[in-house]
Amino acid sequence: MKILGTVILFTVFTSNSALDFCYDEEYCNPYAWGDMFPSCHPIIDEHHSPINLDQHMTRNHTLEALNLVGFDTAQSGEWTLKNNGHSVVLEVGEGMKVDGGGLPAEYTTLQLHFHWGSNFTNGSEHTINGRRYPMEMHIVNMKSTYYPNLTAALDDPTGIAVLGVFIDVANVSNDSFDHLFSLVPAVAFKGRTVPVTPFPLNNLLPVNNLSQYYRYHGSLTTPPCSKAVVWTVYEVPVYISEEQLGEVTSGVFHSEEGDDRVAPLHNNFRHIHDTFGRQVYASKDATLLSAAALPVCNLLLCLIPLLGMGMS
Ligand SMILES: [Zn+2]
Repeated sequence: MKILGTVILFTVFTSNSALDFCYDEEYCNPYAWGDMFPSCHPIIDEHHSPINLDQHMTRNHTLEALNLVGFDTAQSGEWTLKNNGHSVVLEVGEGMKVDGGGLPAEYTTLQLHFHWGSNFTNGSEHTINGRRYPMEMHIVNMKSTYYPNLTAALDDPTGIAVLGVFIDVANVSNDSFDHLFSLVPAVAFKGRTVPVTPFPLNNLLPVNNLSQYYRYHGSLTTPPCSKAVVWTVYEVPVYISEEQLGEVTSGVFHSEEGDDRVAPLHNNFRHIHDTFGRQVYASKDATLLSAAALPVCNLLLCLIPLLGMGMS
């Protein structure tokens, strides 16, 4: 059952080469996905992801921390890290589940993957007040009643629950990410896989701030862009070192080993979409709605018009 689910997942997330999507070529980049996958077209359906998260959201005092079942222990068996040409994906076993926190059902954890920019640019998918973080991790979960039938889950507006975690850069290395990122060289090229010894997924989460998050209904951020996702985007990032960030931004390729053209995988994030009136909720403990959470750059933007007035 687990193998079947994994096969279906990657059939959907990595289409065949004739229809393959990309991030860096004009004919197959995110703006062209709608030509290949009609459900990715922003005019045909408005409930796309990612979005910018700003003060235009509603506080929901019933949204408390989710139950992350099995995230605090090392699961048995073996996990797999894979380069699917679009990201680095960690396929996990069946032992972890997610519920509570306003989710309409229990979800089974399938995999996690990353979105990033380049050596010089940031690459999170969601933005906060216009700020793009260096990376974003997505933990993908499927409504347990459908497992392992991904097709059924993608037909359900709440069939998938994704946990989004921003990753920022600090001066110190994050040992928890070393376990995973040290294996990135083994999956540098598309199609490569490497076994991973399971570890507590909590190690990769902002464990002291799990009650602070944003919630909205949207889509997969990769084709077929199915409008099937209940998004939980954590407000507080986790931190890695600049060197650790570089291991991913410099060390992953969307070309296969031996290809004539060695193509680095950069900027594997989809552009921001309008909410089109969708409700975005702040959890009970989220702080974005307070003025103190506004980034400093907003103050600078306020100063620019004043400086302009002084010069005229
Ligand atoms: Zn993703």
